[in-house]
Amino acid sequence: MSRWMDARLGQLEEYVPGEQPQDMQYIKLNTNEFPYPPAPAVSERLGRGEIEGLRLYSDPTCRVLREKLAVRYKVAPDEVFVGNGSDEVLNFAFWAYGADGVRFADITYGFYPVFAALHDLPITVKPLRQDFSIDPADYLSCDQMVVIANPNAPTGLTLSLDEIEAVVRSNPEHIVVIDEAYVDFGAQSAIPLTRRYPNLLVVSTFSKSRALAGARIGFGIGDRELIRDLNRIKNTTNPYNINRLSMAAAEEAVESRAYYEDCIEKVIEAREKSKTALREMGFSVTDSRANFLFARHPGIGGKALYEALKERGILVRHFEKERIRDFVRITVGTPEQMQALLTACQGIINNGE
Ligand SMILES: *Cc1c(COP(=O)(O)O)cnc(C)c1O
Repeated sequence: MSRWMDARLGQLEEYVPGEQPQDMQYIKLNTNEFPYPPAPAVSERLGRGEIEGLRLYSDPTCRVLREKLAVRYKVAPDEVFVGNGSDEVLNFAFWAYGADGVRFADITYGFYPVFAALHDLPITVKPLRQDFSIDPADYLSCDQMVVIANPNAPTGLTLSLDEIEAVVRSNPEHIVVIDEAYVDFGAQSAIPLTRRYPNLLVVSTFSKSRALAGARIGFGIGDRELIRDLNRIKNTTNPYNINRLSMAAAEEAVESRAYYEDCIEKVIEAREKSKTALREMGFSVTDSRANFLFARHPGIGGKALYEALKERGILVRHFEKERIRDFVRITVGTPEQMQALLTACQGIINNGE
């Protein structure tokens, strides 16, 4: 920190993203990206015309994209907010609604405590149950903002829509954020509940199930008053938060529903097959409904497994965190990538590393 920086900011803990090697020599199963390319319509759209358009500012209201998302999710366009990645939407939500404190799980998306610290918000951390599931009772009538990832990360476990509704209903004085980054891989979306609950904000992203992690597009859906709040923050920080190319890509992605559904089906199939294969090898694997597996083997620690896989050219994610130190999180890739992963795991275990 330079001697000029505000000392409070200089002490903030930074979010540590997964490794992003720029030479692509790895089978990259560490940051939950989609293993298939964006829909053909996305590439077709991003031609010379869009590039020449970069001369002009982007639409600060994201009108076309919001209209398409509204149709897709059966809400009104003014119930949709578009952010520079869902990280931005989450940041704005913490900033806007967290003053009475924010409640989330001990094992969940690592950015939540970072946002809370940035905005100097008190937090209440609720441990997951022994089996890593969320106990919804921990979030009932709690007089704080609630943030739940569904499916949760890095466990992949889900809550039912009824359980989420009970949390939302019991906290009418506070915002409940449901982070649905992985919902398309097998959880039920809470978006339909936004109709009935003005305190529910559902946050989602194009990074995981729409193959656009590098485009940085996320969105929030909720009551129009909430969307106005988020726009107020956007318009006091960075009104052109979405660049033209990403916006064009996202517009096409929303329209290419059949393409993504096919690819998602392949990811789910690869997930279930790999889950079974890992269990046969002696791994304990959570029943993930996301595009990753969370696994540990009695014969090897999480860090050692991560390192042994890296030596064999496969990147997975390991978290240096007490309860989950023995685990690795493995993004579900193509069938070929998963075969390579399984072969490598088998080799590592046989060597008794
Ligand atoms: C990946 C992820 C995000 C962030 O996604 P971006 O839209 O790329 O910023 C948010 N929440 C969870 C739980 C995630 O796993």
